[in-house]
Formats: sequence, C-alpha cells, structure tokens
Amino acid sequence: ASTSTHQDIDPAKLTIEKSTSPKALLKPEELVFGHTFTDHMLTIEWNETSGWHAPQIKPYQNLSLDPATCVFHYAFECFEGMKAYKDKSGGIRLFRPDRNMERFNKSAARIALPTFAPTALIELIATFAKLESRFIPDQRGYSLYLRPTMIGTQKTLGVGPPGSALLYVIASPVGPYYPTGFKAVSLEATDYAVRAWPGGVGDKKLGANYAPCIVPQREAMSRGFQQNLWLFGEEYVTEVGTMNFFVAIRNKETGAKELITAPLDGTILGGVTRDSVLSLAKEKLVPAGWNIVERKYTIKELDEAANEGRLIEAFGSGTAAIVSPVRTISWKGKTINCGLKDHEESGELALKMKDWMEARMYGDDEHEWSYHC
Ligand code: PMP
Repeated sequence: ASTSTHQDIDPAKLTIEKSTSPKALLKPEELVFGHTFTDHMLTIEWNETSGWHAPQIKPYQNLSLDPATCVFHYAFECFEGMKAYKDKSGGIRLFRPDRNMERFNKSAARIALPTFAPTALIELIATFAKLESRFIPDQRGYSLYLRPTMIGTQKTLGVGPPGSALLYVIASPVGPYYPTGFKAVSLEATDYAVRAWPGGVGDKKLGANYAPCIVPQREAMSRGFQQNLWLFGEEYVTEVGTMNFFVAIRNKETGAKELITAPLDGTILGGVTRDSVLSLAKEKLVPAGWNIVERKYTIKELDEAANEGRLIEAFGSGTAAIVSPVRTISWKGKTINCGLKDHEESGELALKMKDWMEARMYGDDEHEWSYHC
C-alpha cells in the first residue's frame, strides 16, 4: 500500500468536462502542423506533498501562471510528440506509446520533475484521443498529433526542484507531411554550433534543447537549405533538424549494403521512429543481405562514399514525417550527393520504410506496436 504522499496517476479518478462550444472542423487540406487544436485538453497536477491529483479532461483553455513560476525562468519543461491514427474501421490507435512514456519519464526525471506510471498515462491519452476522434480525417496520411507536456509550476525564483508541476496533453489534427508525395530535402552541415554534447541532455526531450537550434536552422534556410545536419566535433554526423539520420552505404571492403545510424551515446535523441526503422530493417532487410549498423560515422566518410558511388541513399526519421529523403548535404563548400537521380524525390529504401511503418500505424499490418484506444 502506497502512502498518500506518493499518489501515482490514477485513470479511475478521471473527470470529464465536455466543451459546450465544439470547434468547426477544417477541411483536411487546410490543416497546418500544430496550428489548430481540438476541443479539450488533459491535465494532471502534481505536488510534492500529495503526488499526482485526479486527472481532468476539460475544454481547451489558457493556463494561468504567476510570472515567477519556475518554468519561465529555469526551463523546467519537457515534452513528447506522438500520434493517434484512425484505422479503416474507425478505431483509434496509438503507435508504440510505451516508448514515448519511457522517454517522457526520463526527460522529467533529468530536470527534477515527477515521474509516473506509464500505463496510467497511456490509458488517459487513449481516452482523450478517442474523445477527439472527430478531428482525425479518415484518409491515409492524416492523424492526431499529441503533445504531452510537463512543466514546473512552483512560484519561486529560487533555483531548486519544483514543488509542484502540471502535466498536460493537447492535440492537433495533422495532414500528411508530404501531401503530394515525397519531396527530398537539401541539408547544410552545421559545424560552427553543436546541438548536444557528451554528458549533456541531448538525449532528453527538453524544451531547452530546441530554442538554441533555431538560429543555425534559420541560417541554413537563409542559404536555401531546408534543414541543417548537426555535426559533433566538426566531423561526426548526429541528427538532422529534429529527426534522426540514416544513410545507406555500400561497404568499401566487402561491397555489402549497410544501413547506418549514429549510436545512442547520449548526444542523440532516441527516436521512436529511429527504433522502428532499425527493427523493420532487421526484420525485412537483413534477410535480403543488408547489415544494420549503429555506429559513429563522419561526414568525410559520406563524402568519400558519395565520390566513389557507394552512397545509396540518406533519410531523416521522426514522428512528423516518418521518413524524409535527403538529396544533398552541403559541407565546407562541397555538395555531397546522396544518391538520388535528378528526377527522383526518394530512394527505394525510404519509400519502403514509410509503407512498412504506415501499415503498422494504421493497423493494416496488425502488430504489437499498435495500441488500440
Ligand atoms: N531528434 C530530435 C532532436 C527530435 O526532436 C525528434 C522528434 N521527437 C527526433 C529525433 C525523432 O524522434 P521520434 O522518432 O520519436 O519522433
């Protein structure tokens, strides 16, 4: 029996206050990522004396916080990004929510925010997603983007562990990232700034990791690139924008095809999509002769492979786009060509990955990754 001082999140205590002014739905093609939100939000308060309070689903509304609240001063904030999908019988599904909850707890713990029972929050998010299902268009490619967020709410300028916190989840209907099919992106390698470093918090989903990335991102865009490729120590390839990065290369010695991504050494965010790409690759590409490799690799290696015609393709992976094919990487004034012909917008592998992944997200390929709400 736990003491009341450590009350965990309890889905049985959920109260639901329905909105009396349901929002009008946009046309599917009008949806812009993260611009519009559903009718409700899920909130759960915490404080150090009583633990997690009763969860509430209530009309989407502003928060009211004192200007001295610690989140505004010391960045006590972490978040998740996940999606709910509508299957062909109208059922709502989450994709590997256990992975998001595990990462959310790790992020929260790192910044002295409270943790919680993963299954309890999954159950509540499932209830919330089902309640908002009218916002998810039926067509393939559409989904409900879910944003679990946790903030420190203690009113104090003293630097210390927050004595109170708020966990909330909001939801935004989203359309396909590439409405007219894949569009390969061009990247600029960033070597004058780093996103994360050994011993740092780059493997946690803290809001504080994101704001400093915007200036290098804007720099890359100002020179005509869609995204920046984060290097570490000028040489090592880590991630692309807010996605993990994969390259398919033919091995210099053996000629074997390899799918390579950077290892989870603390400087890489452990993407749920990254993990899923690796699993699918082991399942479906290894039998076809591929090697799947998590290792450090340098941008020089990519340049060399491209020059020798061994760079097969490259793509980013993340919840928003699933996979995002890469055409070129600009590095030290050179252009590394990532294997696409001029008329191509995607390599074969990225296309297959997207199909395999979507089949499991939308439940066409019934799999344990798909959670029925
Ligand atoms: N790297 C960073 C820095 C990210 O913000 C994200 C998005 N969460 C990812 C990678 C991809 O992670 P996921 O596959 O879980 O969306």
